[in-house]
Amino acid sequence: MILPPATLHDLTLPALERELEAADVRPVHAKALWRVLHREAAARLDLDRPEFLPPLRRWIAETVGEGKRWGFDLPEPVADLKSTDGQTRKFLLRLGDGETVETVIMGYPGRSTACVSTQAGCAMGCTFCATGRGGFRRHLRPGEIVAQVLHCQRALRAGGEPGLRNLVLMGMGEPLQNADAVLAALEIVSSRAGVNLGPGHITLSTVGVVPGILRMARENWPYSLAVSLHSVREEERRALIPATRRWPVAELLAACRTYGELTGRRIFVEWTLIAGVNDTPEEARELAQALAGINAHVNLIPLNPVAGYEGEVPGHAAAQAFKVALQQAGFPATLRQRRGIDIAAGCGQLKGKVEGGC
Ligand code: SAH
Ligand code: SF4
Repeated sequence: MILPPATLHDLTLPALERELEAADVRPVHAKALWRVLHREAAARLDLDRPEFLPPLRRWIAETVGEGKRWGFDLPEPVADLKSTDGQTRKFLLRLGDGETVETVIMGYPGRSTACVSTQAGCAMGCTFCATGRGGFRRHLRPGEIVAQVLHCQRALRAGGEPGLRNLVLMGMGEPLQNADAVLAALEIVSSRAGVNLGPGHITLSTVGVVPGILRMARENWPYSLAVSLHSVREEERRALIPATRRWPVAELLAACRTYGELTGRRIFVEWTLIAGVNDTPEEARELAQALAGINAHVNLIPLNPVAGYEGEVPGHAAAQAFKVALQQAGFPATLRQRRGIDIAAGCGQLKGKVEGGC
């Protein structure tokens, strides 16, 4: 797999300091560049900025730009849609090599959440997911994940709004299949001198990549973890998520238990409700049994209809009954609203619509 060349946005602050030091530029200059890149979310680097002192200017002139050591990530929006309720804005962004990914801003001014992609496409093949149906293209570099966050910052500020408050890795791709790049990107966007998203305001959503969950637990990643469970019946889960045959339900639940024990953190369980497939009260009770002893909060998300997938949206009564069954078993459960349906805000759906793909 060929990734586009590295950019300044790939670098964490310590890595940037090391780069400068190696070029005999005092690392203290890194902070000025960092603030421009990440706090200001600058769309280009003007060398005559007063905060850039001569040694830094020289370094930028010599090493940053096309054909030089470091590129500059600035994805180009090829679609920009607002939902009619005004609470969701969705971008299709074109990366340096022409791949496209989806990035979404949700919520009210002052409480905005960015939802970003971690891969172009996805190899997990979930049958109900537009991204999964479209297949895998490539991993994203850290800078390409960071650049989506910066794009949202610029869009919010251009509309006179305060910047982002929260970040979720729930766009295209499976974050724990691209864990090193994700880890670097999250270190970059949570930097105090940069975007400054608090680790507690960042949620990583995984389809259930067991080695990745165990790594998060062992290394004590400070971010929230959401696990897309959707079923605790082995065969049913495999039918929904073909790639999960590598990590059976029992193993996944054991990893969730280990995660809770090692980190003391609550896990968010994501459950896409599909009519007649996984929306019955019996299944809610099975879920509650499976989660016994795990500190979990269940988010129920009614299916967003996807072209080519036959599953249907559950009725409100069934969704409500599922939630109540979980709550009666002692688990906090929230029934999420389907947001931005009119702009194809489900994962991977805008790409399919704009490019006529999946
Ligand atoms: N790959 C990761 C993160 C991206 S998907 C994961 O699967 O968790 C983010 C969330 O969107 C997942 O919980 C996924 O199950 C959900 N999702 C995907 N397609 C959907 C659809 N058509 N309707 C409702 N939720 C969907
Ligand atoms: Fe990939 Fe998540 Fe979509 Fe499954 S739901 S195909 S893991 S992006």
